[in-house]
Amino acid sequence: MGFEEVNARVEAAVERSGRAIGDVTLIAVSKVQPNARVASVLEKGCRIFGENRVQEAFEKWPDFKSRFDGVEVHLIGPLQTNKARQAMELFDVIQTVDRPKLAKTIARLAVELGHCPRLFVQVNTGEEVQKAGILPRDADAFIIECRDMGLAVEGLMCIPPADEDPAPHFDMLREIAARNGIAGLSMGMSGDFEVAIAHGATHVRVGSAIFGDRDYG
Ligand SMILES: *Cc1c(COP(=O)(O)O)cnc(C)c1O
Repeated sequence: MGFEEVNARVEAAVERSGRAIGDVTLIAVSKVQPNARVASVLEKGCRIFGENRVQEAFEKWPDFKSRFDGVEVHLIGPLQTNKARQAMELFDVIQTVDRPKLAKTIARLAVELGHCPRLFVQVNTGEEVQKAGILPRDADAFIIECRDMGLAVEGLMCIPPADEDPAPHFDMLREIAARNGIAGLSMGMSGDFEVAIAHGATHVRVGSAIFGDRDYG
């Protein structure tokens, strides 16, 4: 599809759902993509990107950030506590806060570094053992715990099970956010971002539909 087409589809989906264009942010997921593809999407005007590994992001983004103004990078993959400092130095948003130990580390480092990225809590809506994220039944208490530590939770994030209808997962995330007074909802990827927007997404994370397939070779 490419960036322009995905962007147009996002806007059309936002309009269909009766919301304003600015209500939904398109995050271009650049993990594993060659730098030339990332540069060409930057040149088309895209400024918001997602990466799932701290190390890989460090190899790419300091340089791109020095060449292009207004770039914002979101961490959308699991974060180990021993990489939290590095992540907080590079990322503008961490979408994968998902356990008390990590939240405590981020809170401590925020004081030390004097700044904190914007934070989303990842919820494992499908309760999949192989997936990160706080379990839905523990989400309310965890959000309160984060706030008690002084962390502002801007949004929630989920990755529905690959083989299920994502809509009930999107609805679950929206309900958890609503009852906790949280505005941000990061949900929807290449295969379902239009569905996610219809269900209230404020952030969609789209990789292969923008950049083409990822070559893990
Ligand atoms: C890779 C990834 C995406 C993008 O997936 P596509 O299907 O390529 O759009 C979105 N969210 C997360 C958390 C990812 O790891």
